[in-house]
Amino acid sequence: MNVDRRRAARRDTIPVPRSNAVVEPVAIETTGVQRAVVRCGSCNHRVFDVVGLPSDIAPQAAPPFGMLHVVRRCRRCDRLQDGRVTGHSGYPLPEGLAGVWRCECGRVLGDVGEVRGRVRVRCRCRLEVRATAADVIETANAAVIADAS
Ligand SMILES: [Zn+2]
Ligand SMILES: [Zn+2]
Repeated sequence: MNVDRRRAARRDTIPVPRSNAVVEPVAIETTGVQRAVVRCGSCNHRVFDVVGLPSDIAPQAAPPFGMLHVVRRCRRCDRLQDGRVTGHSGYPLPEGLAGVWRCECGRVLGDVGEVRGRVRVRCRCRLEVRATAADVIETANAAVIADAS
């Protein structure tokens, strides 16, 4: 029974390239906000979100985003923590996350490779989930486009 439910949930997720994570297709809101939910490839737990905001879509920074936001809920204090990462591998953001990513309460949320925007977080099942933010949003966007056609 539990196994069946989990399989059903996984039908709607897509593997992210060069990653051990899966992603849910992006919700493109009327405001232009694009949000992809990243889940652990092993247990399907939500590990972080990748968000693209319209103001981040600077024409000179294409393709496809100059900047993305990663959002993760802290397991200790429940705060939602938002950090910036590059959306364009090879172009680190001066104001982006780099190295250890900490919550305001001090708990370590994960680790960010600033040059590629690669995020590593520990899932509650202990798996270290790794995914590049740009790969996440591109994978999710491609799924939305495929759905529409
Ligand atoms: Zn997991
Ligand atoms: Zn915290």
